[in-house]
Amino acid sequence: MSSKGVWTISEWGEDRIKTISFELLTRARPLADKLNTELSSVLIGRGLEDETARELIYRGADKIYVVDDKNLESFIVENYSAVLTALILKHKPEIVVAGATTMGRTLLPHVAVKVNAGLTADCTSLDIEEGSGNLLQVRPAIGGNIMARIKTPEKRPQMATVRPKTIRPAQRDEKRQGVIIRERFGNEIIDSRVERVGHRKLDTGGAEIQDADIVVSGGAGLKKGDNFKIIQELAKTLGGAVGGSRNAVDRGWISYPHQVGLSGKTVTPKLYIAVGISGSIQHLAGMKTSEHIIAINNDPDAPIFKVADFGVVGDLFEIIPLIYEALKEAM
Ligand SMILES: Cc1cc2nc3c(=O)[nH]c(=O)nc-3n(C[C@H](O)[C@H](O)[C@H](O)COP(=O)(O)OP(=O)(O)OC[C@H]3O[C@@H](n4cnc5c(N)ncnc54)[C@H](O)[C@@H]3O)c2cc1C
Repeated sequence: MSSKGVWTISEWGEDRIKTISFELLTRARPLADKLNTELSSVLIGRGLEDETARELIYRGADKIYVVDDKNLESFIVENYSAVLTALILKHKPEIVVAGATTMGRTLLPHVAVKVNAGLTADCTSLDIEEGSGNLLQVRPAIGGNIMARIKTPEKRPQMATVRPKTIRPAQRDEKRQGVIIRERFGNEIIDSRVERVGHRKLDTGGAEIQDADIVVSGGAGLKKGDNFKIIQELAKTLGGAVGGSRNAVDRGWISYPHQVGLSGKTVTPKLYIAVGISGSIQHLAGMKTSEHIIAINNDPDAPIFKVADFGVVGDLFEIIPLIYEALKEAM
């Protein structure tokens, strides 16, 4: 049987489908359409109702493979990998895409080895090559200075992880129809000897920049750490989160969980305000998909202005107080 179909790996936790699952479907839908094939999603966990799986259909999937088992409640890589490998060997998808999240980054390499396939990690976009139908996997390479296009012409499935927040999920469409298939696996696949005994959430120090509607970020233009409070205050006034360039993080002005960019986080807020940030390719990689971008920089040639919807050329120490005055009047 030749390989057919595009798959995404959905994520489930804390009684909800995680947003990355919808992002992956939005990313993969055009791939399936170009290949004239089905888009399926795999949902592994415990207590997965049909209603839950249907959410994935509303967001673009044609078919959902649900694997529900009491030993799959927590993400234990050996078990999830055994289940996904068995599904891949049975159904032979052409493409398998997961999020570049903790789960995807752990699970997909494990599975890729077992199914003897290649894997491109941390892609920022995906496409189908005309003629060959191969998956084109685009990701930053050589320190983020180039965007590499990688393909896997021989092995199947073609596997990739995709950075979260690099695409806005498609709207929910309750009219979409699809099929839910429940697959069961026995003890020879799912090993009940491994169990999760506890879970502690990582303390991000209030840096939930990936979920914020507004992100105000500061860079080296702030000159010294003390000045970073201008950014914190502006973010607080606007009800947003605080971000920073790597330069600001390296200087210890703000902690790493706040870093935006290639080696930090990708954000897609409604509004991104870049203050004293030049707009290096590595910084842009983490924020250029924001809905609206405002840049404040005293260098009119700063690359940040190339992606900004609204640019203010001038000294940030003069402009930020003017913004406060305008905000006070507006509030
Ligand atoms: C592998 C790799 C990964 C990287 N990952 C990241 C990443 O994740 N995130 C990231 O940000 N960078 C990353 N970088 C670093 C990146 O290349 C840049 O060095 C960094 O983004 C620069 O930060 P900056 O814009 O704050 O500093 P600069 O480039 O020094 O820019 C400061 C800006 O402030 C402006 N300015 C100065 N004074 C004022 C003023 N008074 N008013 C207004 N504007 C002023 C200047 O005109 C200038 O444009 C990475 C680099 C590599 C090689």
